[in-house]
Amino acid sequence: MMIAELISTGSELLLGQVVNTNAQYISARLAELGIHLFFQTTVGDNRVRMEKALSTALGRADIVITTGGLGPTLGDITKEVSSGVFGRTLELHEESLKRIQAVFAYRGLKMTENNIRQAMIPQGAIVLPNNRGTAPGVVMEEGNKIIINLPGPPYEMQGMFEDAAVPYLTAKYGLKQVIYSRVLRCFGLGESSLEEEIKDLLKQQSNPTIALLAREREIHIRLTALADDVAQADSMLGSLEEVIRTRIGQYIFAVNEDTLAKVAGNLLVERKCTVACAESCTGGMIAAMFTDVPGSSAYFVQGVVTYTNEAKIKLLKVKEHTISRQGAVSEQTAREMAEGVRSLAGTDVGLSVTGIAGPGGATEAKPVGLVYIGVAMPDSTSVYKYVFSGDRSSIRLYAAKTALDLLRRNLLGAGT
Ligand code: ATP
Ligand code: MG
Repeated sequence: MMIAELISTGSELLLGQVVNTNAQYISARLAELGIHLFFQTTVGDNRVRMEKALSTALGRADIVITTGGLGPTLGDITKEVSSGVFGRTLELHEESLKRIQAVFAYRGLKMTENNIRQAMIPQGAIVLPNNRGTAPGVVMEEGNKIIINLPGPPYEMQGMFEDAAVPYLTAKYGLKQVIYSRVLRCFGLGESSLEEEIKDLLKQQSNPTIALLAREREIHIRLTALADDVAQADSMLGSLEEVIRTRIGQYIFAVNEDTLAKVAGNLLVERKCTVACAESCTGGMIAAMFTDVPGSSAYFVQGVVTYTNEAKIKLLKVKEHTISRQGAVSEQTAREMAEGVRSLAGTDVGLSVTGIAGPGGATEAKPVGLVYIGVAMPDSTSVYKYVFSGDRSSIRLYAAKTALDLLRRNLLGAGT
């Protein structure tokens, strides 16, 4: 059983100026690798306290991974302190120096004296190349203890972790060769309901593992398998996915990368349909989501933001008495908006959103979060009513994504 420990360095982390995403990333990856992690420490750029954190960690773990403080400035002391703990000194690593010089030349920047600090490496260390920046990382072995120094910037850290640290650890400890993940992206049900649906699977999980991540009103179910080869991992993930799909299949809109807008767009292409949207409280978010997808002009024709009553009447031909009798936030208005934009743009499908994003604007009958979404299809129009919770931005985001999800469901012929 291998035990690792993580030390995040940087006073900015202690001050709450930077969120420690490196810790999250590394922890998740170590779990996938089957390496145990029992403690995480965050320490500032202070020699004495960093030394203490390192010694403590080395007393209870086989592998100590640090992030941050590999840079060129005097505050960057991680390598120095780490090598000191193993009784070593730093020496110039020519190859790293050349690499850093090359990066500076390529970027057309002048290299300063203190950049040489980045090429100072502990005696006898293994150098981890930095393919995304200048500061190299370091692995130091001393007896059966290992220190790994990784850079702070997340993009650099992740690159080095995957390209250099994982292969090193895999070889060193003979870890299973293949770690394979699959993410099932869900929308439209809460985390606790989802958890309830797959409670037994979560409880008995070991390999593949199951992790739930709530992201921007979506829930991502990450399945991770450790296997001897890709085919084996694939079949393990496939069987688990199948079981999960029998329970909550209708909420899974994509596997791995695709966004709701991409998935809805693919369905539009498949069915040779075009779409236009009329937005009120989402103020163009749906149009932005559609057009985030390259090539969306193949199906997304037009988006209008009709924020005032007048705009809805003038542009979308919403009836004046619909608004005066039932209100701008009503089922009938959503219906007329969807049908109105469909005929305005001459598309197969019209999508509309009207709602109260708050914080003001609520009445007794119409609370903050009340949103109507209209989907005008060639043969019929459906309107859906929701009361979303959360603050203004959260309600708007949920409304926009729900509209895309309803489009997806209508195209699949599933409704809601
Ligand atoms: P540099 O060469 O840029 O100085 P470094 O390896 O010395 O890199 P730091 O100086 O500690 O790293 O951090 C650089 C930047 O990386 C920080 O300003 C911060 O934005 C980000 N960063 C550092 N540590 C973390 C972390 N644990 N999680 C997320 N971001 C981090
Ligand atoms: Mg730095």
